[in-house]
Formats: sequence, structure tokens, C-alpha cells
Amino acid sequence: MVSYKELGLVNTRDMFAKAIKGGYAIPAFNFNNMEQLQAIVKAASETKSPVILQVSKGARNYANATLLRYMAEGAVEYAKELGWEKPQIVLHLDHGDSFELCKSCVDCGFSSVMIDGSHLPYEENVALTKQVVDYAHQHDVTVEGELGVLAGVEDEVSSDHHTYTDPEEVIDFATRTGCDSLAISIGTSHGAYKFTPEQCTRNAEGKLVPPPLAFDVLDAVMEKLPGFPIVLHGSSSVPQDEVDTINKFGGKLPDAIGIPEEQLRKAAKSAVCKINIDSDSRLAMTAAVRKVFAEKPAEFDPRKYLGPARDNMEKLYKHKIENVLGSAGKAE
Ligand SMILES: [Zn+2]
Repeated sequence: MVSYKELGLVNTRDMFAKAIKGGYAIPAFNFNNMEQLQAIVKAASETKSPVILQVSKGARNYANATLLRYMAEGAVEYAKELGWEKPQIVLHLDHGDSFELCKSCVDCGFSSVMIDGSHLPYEENVALTKQVVDYAHQHDVTVEGELGVLAGVEDEVSSDHHTYTDPEEVIDFATRTGCDSLAISIGTSHGAYKFTPEQCTRNAEGKLVPPPLAFDVLDAVMEKLPGFPIVLHGSSSVPQDEVDTINKFGGKLPDAIGIPEEQLRKAAKSAVCKINIDSDSRLAMTAAVRKVFAEKPAEFDPRKYLGPARDNMEKLYKHKIENVLGSAGKAE
């Protein structure tokens, strides 16, 4: 048993309270490997932005749970080395699917966990979420629950359609489970194909324009739970320049599309205080690697293609922090 406090991590409680008051959102970036983590920590340190390092079940399987935990501990020390005196870093489990998984994360130093019972019947979601909250709170670990279903595919989470969160359920859910934040479904979606071309319109240049998020659902939730921290999953914007680079250098991502950044900026100014971004970093990494492989076919030193990939991700993370979420300078 190791407490996140010994590792220099923080939970989300104060972070979210400040974000709601300040009209910005905290970036939650997923990581699976060293280059992603370096890019996230550098971007957060240099902009002094609070940051949530997210680990999915898939990442734990890929990278090894023990190694990831030590990497997060290393991230705090690395941030200090970069001149960030008091790093505000959360280590968060993304889409925990059982009490046992959440407990194992609490026990090995996570400061926050998500229990995703959104696919379960309502009463079972309440019971499972409450069980996780009861355990996590004994260790001052914060818990994110979810109501409503997102469409899309991400690691082990997938659904072919979305169901908006029912605002009529949120008071009962938050009260009975005691969760610290709530992920809701308002039209964001997992993966790099958030909408089918049929769901979109096309602009004058023939580019897809996605349908707007359901801000009426968000407003109704905020009215029911004033000041309660809201989380948006599946909020990558799928930058078209990265998609174009991938396609230009041999990739095949036709009609990949995400959530426009103006809509995320608007959401960040509300009670939405955590915005999850994973696919954008995957795209930035893939675009940079493909470019090196295409332009320098003789290159075989991984540092020569993972290095540029890391630089490209860092640029993306800084852009999100400064121009989309508004969290720069909030963790001086
Ligand atoms: Zn998610």
C-alpha cells in the first residue's frame, strides 16, 4: 500500500473547485509510454498548468501497472527539475470497470479513479460507484462516476451509439454515490471518428462539419447540480493538419473528425472542469513518425523518430492548455 501523497501527487478536489470558479478546465491526457509522459510533463511544467495523467486499463496492460506508477512518481520529480516548484499532478485511472481494479489503483498510489458503470442498469451503477467511493474516500482519493453513454471506441470501451445523460438522474446519482465528479454524455465520443459523414454537413471546401454538442443537456445538469464538477470524455478535436500529414505519408484515416475546439473552450468556461484528450496525442505522434519514415527511409534509431513525435505532442499539449482549456498559469 502506497499513498499518492508520498509520491507528491494531488487529488482533484481543490483543482476542480478552482477550475469551476475560474472558468477553465484541467487537461486529462492519457499516457502509455515515456515519450507521451515527457511531453505532457514538459508542457504542463512550462505553462504551469495543473494536469491529470490518465492511465486506462489498456495502458496498464500495455506498459505494466508497476512501471506506470513509478513513471508517475518520476513525473513529479521531473516537473520539479524543470523548475515547477509545486507540481499539481493527478494520477487518474481512466474507465475503471470493477471495484477490484479501482482498489488496486488506490492501493498503489493513484490519487483519483474513475469507475465507469455507465453501461450498467442505473441501480447497479449507483451501487458499484458507491462501493468505490466508500473505499477511495478512506484514502482521500477522489472518484469520477459516469451517467449516459458515449459513442465510439477507445481501448476496451466501445459503443456504437450514444445516450445523452438524463439530467433527471444526476442529483440522485451524485447524492447516493458521493462521487466527486461526474462524466456526462452530451455528444462527445471516443476515438478519431467521432461522427459519421452522414451526421455532419460539409463546408464550401468539402470538409466535414460536425453537429454541435448538446449544451442544453449540460445546462440542465448544471442547473440540477450547481457547482458540481463535470467531466467530458472523448474530447479530442482530431486536428486536420495531423490527419492530412498521416494520409500524405501513407496513412489511411479518411473522414476522421473530432470536436471543434471552440465548443470545448465554451464548455471549459462552465462547470466542465476536466476534459479528456487522448486521440489527438495519438495522431500527433503518428503524424510525426510517418513523416520521418517517409522522408528518411534510412533512419533506424528510435530516438530519431520518437524524438520528433515527442516534440509534436508537446506542441499539441501546450496548445490545448493555452488556447482551449485555459489552464495555463493556474498552478504557479
Ligand atoms: Zn473515456
